[in-house]
Amino acid sequence: MHSIKSYKFKIAFLLLCLSAPLLWSQTTLKVIDKTVNFGMRTTQNRKIDAVIIHSVYNASEGDKYDVDLVIKQFLRYHVSSHYIIGRDGKIYKLVDEKNVSFQAGHSQLPDGRTGVNSCSIGIELITSKDSLDAPTEPQIKSLTALVKNIKSRYSIKYILRHSDIAPARKTDPWNMNWEDFLKRLAQ
Ligand SMILES: [Zn+2]
Repeated sequence: MHSIKSYKFKIAFLLLCLSAPLLWSQTTLKVIDKTVNFGMRTTQNRKIDAVIIHSVYNASEGDKYDVDLVIKQFLRYHVSSHYIIGRDGKIYKLVDEKNVSFQAGHSQLPDGRTGVNSCSIGIELITSKDSLDAPTEPQIKSLTALVKNIKSRYSIKYILRHSDIAPARKTDPWNMNWEDFLKRLAQ
């Protein structure tokens, strides 16, 4: 009997060891700091209950998918976002979540609230309007992990596309399979 118990214990211990890295990878999120001091406003104790998904690319000279050129473009327009996700799935932080980033513009949430910047976290996927340049699998994986992480830390009422809150002005995020993303979020 003793040997069977010991055997079971060893199996349980082995399973725990095998699952630990998996649990760890689900709870940690690697974020590269690229904090900016434009297109944002510092705030205290703002209430966050919305996540807005966007897409963006560098429309000027150079690589359209270069994250630093996209940030330069933000500087020119005095806008920003809290996060940018590169084509390779790397997550860059531009603005602390506690601060407001100028990403939503004139827009309205389904419950009628305007001034969406003040209550939301904005996430940009680097992609173009070309249907061949849909968001990559690494981007969607990182976006899912990031939004799950945000949901675990705030009481989030809305996860919406920029085009959902400003339909007359905005069409982003472009070429994104939104239903598939929502399914991944629910898993
Ligand atoms: Zn947008």
